[in-house]
Amino acid sequence: MDRKKYQDLIDTFFSWQQPAISQIFTELLSATAAESALSPSEIMSQNYETARANPEIHNLPGNLKDARDVVFPYFWGTDSWNNPLHLENVRGPANNASLIGMLACLLKNPNLCTDRYSQRSNELEVKAITTLANLIFYHTQDPWGVFTIGGTISNLYGGKIGLEKVLPGAMQNGLRGERVVGLCSQASHYSNQTVAGWLGIGTSNLIDIPTDHNLAMRTDLLESKLDELYTSGARVAYVCCTFGTTDGFGYDDIEAIAEIAERKAKQFAAPRPQVHVDAAVGWALSMLSDYNVVTNPLEMEPNVCELITRVQQKNKGLRKADSVTIDFHKMGRGHYPSSAFIVNRREDLKYLARTVSDTPYFSDAQANRDPALFTLECSRPAFGPYSVMASLNGIGLTGWQMLLARSLELADRLKTKLASLDYCKVLNQNTPGASVNWWVFPKGRNAEEIFQKLVNNELSTEQRQRYLPEIRRLFDKRMKMMDPKMDARLGFRNRYPSLESGFL
Ligand SMILES: *Cc1c(COP(=O)(O)O)cnc(C)c1O
Repeated sequence: MDRKKYQDLIDTFFSWQQPAISQIFTELLSATAAESALSPSEIMSQNYETARANPEIHNLPGNLKDARDVVFPYFWGTDSWNNPLHLENVRGPANNASLIGMLACLLKNPNLCTDRYSQRSNELEVKAITTLANLIFYHTQDPWGVFTIGGTISNLYGGKIGLEKVLPGAMQNGLRGERVVGLCSQASHYSNQTVAGWLGIGTSNLIDIPTDHNLAMRTDLLESKLDELYTSGARVAYVCCTFGTTDGFGYDDIEAIAEIAERKAKQFAAPRPQVHVDAAVGWALSMLSDYNVVTNPLEMEPNVCELITRVQQKNKGLRKADSVTIDFHKMGRGHYPSSAFIVNRREDLKYLARTVSDTPYFSDAQANRDPALFTLECSRPAFGPYSVMASLNGIGLTGWQMLLARSLELADRLKTKLASLDYCKVLNQNTPGASVNWWVFPKGRNAEEIFQKLVNNELSTEQRQRYLPEIRRLFDKRMKMMDPKMDARLGFRNRYPSLESGFL
């Protein structure tokens, strides 16, 4: 082999080419900043037509600019969602403190499987998890957890602990013909279906309990369903409560659900199901738990203080959870993937534990610092801990309180304005949070009246078929007519969980 060519290759791609790397980074940063001159619809259109027909690999070694050039059109054609006209749910721009954390992580590329592969980055995960656990559980004693690639996987961990609690040895022996079920609400995220399917209990054994008009699980129906399930001999592995539903910000009553789960399990002499909380969306509001609305140091408006007080009440429920899912890449304004799965009591991780003989690469692993002994994944990125710690400490608790209070304030203002229009109806009036769901009818209709008749089952089939599709038609019309420089991009959903059936 030509040693000179080989050495050039190594120098270009494996030594720290500081000027070359910073130059390209500066160029990418400038390109991103240029995006602020565009409206959300003006980014480059996609070209799926030939994406499969033209796979691509260069023949000869190039340089870092070749690497830049090949990704650039796709980079430019991707919106960073910083434009305030984006009002679709859940996604928002990632914050700059998180960017710094992520870059630091990329430079070292740690692998959180064990601390031999990640050294102090592993320590950062412990610190990040404990910090989040203290926000959520509030002065908890012995929490533990790991970062995962998303809320779906964090929910899977919660379900898996429940499964092992009610069917010990499922990890080794499978379900052995037992019927194992999990419960959630009808307003819960569809990842609960994914979890039930992938856990092996089956999606048909995920029982979804109807919600009330505030998108909260009906606890009376949970109770009767548990009676029925236990009586039929099913093993109830977990109840997944939602703290902040994806579209409407509904909150399940975690305290009541935990009490019911415990009482029913006792009554039927069964192991207590795991009470997991999917707080993928709502967890960030726990940063408001300690805000003093009386001294009000941030001089919030009275209606915002009132919203904060309501949120603080909801936050108390989190302390009753056995385990929690947190998506920092949603309301934490972090980069993907930054999701955390946290248990309130570290001893619960024993249900996930494998032995060193099950994980042969890690023969010297120790459970207290080597997550590979209980994680689903083997290699695991450290993006989550870097994004979380950089964001929490860059922005600071007070900074977070300002961001969150502002989102509550703006959502509330929009709700109030919409409620003053006869032809609009706010569907999630009583869920303090960052999202607003509403109907728009043609002018002249009374939206409140139609809503009341729908929930009281007083609309005739003919009326339903006339009124309800109007909502979709108006949304479609707006999509066609909107001026992307002025009008926000909104989301639409076909079904609304607190309104019994799919109607649009
Ligand atoms: C987004 C979301 C999830 C799934 O999280 P991913 O990070 O997208 O996997 C789960 N639950 C709720 C409530 C969500 O909003």
